[in-house]
Amino acid sequence: MMKNDTIAAIATPPGTGGVAIVRISGPEAEKTLRSAFRRGDKKTEWKSHEFVYGHIVRGGETVDEGMAVLMRAPRSYTREDVAELHCHGGETVTRMTLEAALAAGARPAQPGEFTRRAFENGRVDLAQAEAVMRLIGAQGEAAARQARRQMDGAVSRGVEKARQKLLDMLAEIAACTDFPDEIEEAPTAAKLLDEARTLSGALRAACDPRSARVLETGFNVVIAGRPNVGKSSLLNALLGEERAIVTSEAGTTRDAVRGAMELAGVRVNLTDTAGLREADSEAEKIGVKRAKEAVANADLALVVLDASQPLTEEDRETLAETESVNRWILLNKTDLPAAARLPAADMTISAQTGEGVETLRERLREEAKKAQGGGALLTQARHIDAAQRAAESLDAMCRTLESGTPLDFAAVDATDALRALGEITGEDAAETVVDAVFANFCVGK
Ligand code: GDP
Repeated sequence: MMKNDTIAAIATPPGTGGVAIVRISGPEAEKTLRSAFRRGDKKTEWKSHEFVYGHIVRGGETVDEGMAVLMRAPRSYTREDVAELHCHGGETVTRMTLEAALAAGARPAQPGEFTRRAFENGRVDLAQAEAVMRLIGAQGEAAARQARRQMDGAVSRGVEKARQKLLDMLAEIAACTDFPDEIEEAPTAAKLLDEARTLSGALRAACDPRSARVLETGFNVVIAGRPNVGKSSLLNALLGEERAIVTSEAGTTRDAVRGAMELAGVRVNLTDTAGLREADSEAEKIGVKRAKEAVANADLALVVLDASQPLTEEDRETLAETESVNRWILLNKTDLPAAARLPAADMTISAQTGEGVETLRERLREEAKKAQGGGALLTQARHIDAAQRAAESLDAMCRTLESGTPLDFAAVDATDALRALGEITGEDAAETVVDAVFANFCVGK
């Protein structure tokens, strides 16, 4: 790939559409534009970022009527001069428009070459360049939002902070080894050990896929229990609104009822299940199947028991069904006289009077926050792999520091960690890594 030539490609997807865009980038972008496009207003000067009407011409022949824009460096996608030709979106006319640019001196761009130039010219780092691809490929708003954050530099900033920490640690080691008479090694080693442990933990937390999911879509809580124990009432009490329909007839909540609340910045999704008991009717069977799925996929199950009634067979089934998941056993209806021989509970509440609900909300907030971790950052396999290697190097650094070997050895581990993190943003990425990233791009991006 030559660095300083001018490239061109169709930037819009293949197929037919209203308009198509041919993008040109490089030092000769303006010259290419001038010979491939005839301005309608016959002006000779091209202003930057001005949309101009005219005709696309390929070697003297008019190909289409269209619009064009020139974006002078550095205010462009690649930080080079960029020109765009907007033609009608037919496959043939688009190809002819590209040929007009090629006939004017540009060469066909390789996949991802525009974004690669943006990377090489320092407009974006490697993680941000990857985010462009993720945004284009995003299925659903949550994925798009995540990609957008990465594009804005959320990943890069987190990585940069960790790298800065490592650089500070390396500076401390250097000071200690350079001035052995003035700086004592033991307290420095103890301080470094502490810092390395913290950083390693933070990096691992940033890789936790569950944290990323909780951050993205929220903490999932499912309310389980036999009919009439007060699940809907609890859901309403937590949400603070009449969300689920509450009746005293058993089995009124057939489908899963959902609600979401925001607890100190953490989204908590609540699902009220239809009960886990094996049912006869088709509709009930579906409800039970959904309930079981909801329990299995939940971050936390609130198992509700009626404290005013002795345990039933169905209560026992619910307890058995939720045994292997993260659950809290709640004794509800504590405003009523208590029944004998109730199992040990994590909390007692009254969904009716609201007693204990605030405490429950508070504990849910803490649990959700914990699950969110430090706000997991990394969702891409390449980033997670690099961060984990950095964490491993930091763990090795801890062992070195604990063993009392000279601090120089710890510096080797810290440098490894630094290098691994640099792969994420591209600061320390080998050419092959960069090639691999851009190989996944499409032509024109
Ligand atoms: P679900 O079938 O588990 O969703 O239970 P519901 O929320 O529909 O409640 C069943 C019945 O128990 C309703 O009549 C509620 O008013 C009542 N109930 C729910 N929570 C309490 C409580 O804390 N105390 C009392 N006394 N009654 C409650």
